[in-house]
Amino acid sequence: MVKSIKFWVTLMVTAFFAVTAANAQFKCGVTAEAGKKIMAQMQANRNEMRDFVYTRGAITYVPVRFFLVAKSDGSGRASERSGLQALCVLNDAYADQDIQFYLKEFKYINSTSIYSNPTSFSGSNAISGQMIYNAINIFVVHEMSEEGVLAYYQPEAGPNGNDWIVCLESHTGQSLVLPHEVGHFFSLNHTFYGWESTGGWDAAANGNPVGPTSPDGVPNELVNGTNCLNAGDGICDTPADYMFPNNSCAYTQNAKDPNGQLLSPDIHNYMNYVYGCGDYHFTDDQKTEIHGSLFSNPRNYIRPNYTPNLTQVGSAPTAISPQQNEVVSTYNSVKLEWTAVAGADRYFLELTNTGQRYIATTNSITLTDLLPNKSYLWKVLAYNEYSTCGLFSGQKIFKTGDQQLSDTSTIPEVENWSINPNPVRVGEPFFIKVNTTEAVQATVSITSITGRLVQEFPQTDFKAGESSFEIPTVDLSSGLYFVTLRTKKDFQTQRVSVIN
Ligand SMILES: [Zn+2]
Repeated sequence: MVKSIKFWVTLMVTAFFAVTAANAQFKCGVTAEAGKKIMAQMQANRNEMRDFVYTRGAITYVPVRFFLVAKSDGSGRASERSGLQALCVLNDAYADQDIQFYLKEFKYINSTSIYSNPTSFSGSNAISGQMIYNAINIFVVHEMSEEGVLAYYQPEAGPNGNDWIVCLESHTGQSLVLPHEVGHFFSLNHTFYGWESTGGWDAAANGNPVGPTSPDGVPNELVNGTNCLNAGDGICDTPADYMFPNNSCAYTQNAKDPNGQLLSPDIHNYMNYVYGCGDYHFTDDQKTEIHGSLFSNPRNYIRPNYTPNLTQVGSAPTAISPQQNEVVSTYNSVKLEWTAVAGADRYFLELTNTGQRYIATTNSITLTDLLPNKSYLWKVLAYNEYSTCGLFSGQKIFKTGDQQLSDTSTIPEVENWSINPNPVRVGEPFFIKVNTTEAVQATVSITSITGRLVQEFPQTDFKAGESSFEIPTVDLSSGLYFVTLRTKKDFQTQRVSVIN
């Protein structure tokens, strides 16, 4: 099982680095200042977990929630795919520690300050207001406040702290970045802790040998390991490291520790910055700290004692319908269908030329938000809450016609229906008023403008004559939504606008 994950990750990673290895850099936003809090947490864990014995072989399943952040107007949202890729690399990186991650949920939030400036005062306040302490919370954003930063962890640990991770959408699937941030989450510091504020060791600026203290005020770790518990990263089996250029896969410097001994840093360590060289690992002592953190009190909230669906989703679906180059007569009701994949209970569908995305729970979906006379390229991948490394189906193309299905069609039992108030304010309910000729059962569903189902009220009874049905909007952010009323005979859709 683990082997097949590794295989796919290796494939993805190989493909990725073929293009980017040459000048890729990794910079993490965890500063020496944040590192102090992480260090204090590690020391607290050491105290709390002194008598803790970890039994090998029992896998701990850790829930992860991905916040797919858009600008305040709803545009530019990170893709669900970024979360699926993140889980895939995390599960590969932590498999040998009996720690596995599964998808708790995707959350869709609109906040320009989180989207483009997450460490600003308003950005971190907005993040803080979104936190739900029952999973690791990862915010997928478009830009970082500081140039070059790909991701960061915000201490402190536990539901009274901050405890979130922010990652650029472009790097969630990278094999070093999120495993590294989750390492911080589990109380690990950089192997070069104390050198974060520099651009890395430099003989002219920092001396060779270096002095006893790092530029950020941390004791410099000695090569002979005698001060390892209280110097550098505080971990004894990671060698002394004063942060070195990370654009090469080999260490070629001649830096010396305060005793004049030559350094030999661990450049393939997950908690280092060496990007694009693969072969990453945590040391045994780091793994001990990770377990100490995972099983500590502040982390009770990520151990719900739940085992996800462990079925591996191995193969890619095959797109069936519409057929290649088919012209579908309607545009506002187009059914897409593909082969079911064993083990999958979710399908991620992407219209690649428009960026529209949908999640289906079966192997078909009816799209109601397409434009007339337009070509659409589509592909689909299968997953479940735990197995998210699947590949996309081959891409197919179809074209919509100009016929409308629902707008002109009528539901025979329904004389008319309306939405009041419209627009509705965020957090306030709206009402669907229905006039029917006979008693009828209808499913009421609310979908976002991108086709995502946000609420559904199946098999709702409407008596003959006029009746009213209340829809709460507590979970809806501002924006335009489609409300669909569907009986056995037909369906109709109207728009509702939710405003601040
Ligand atoms: Zn870092």
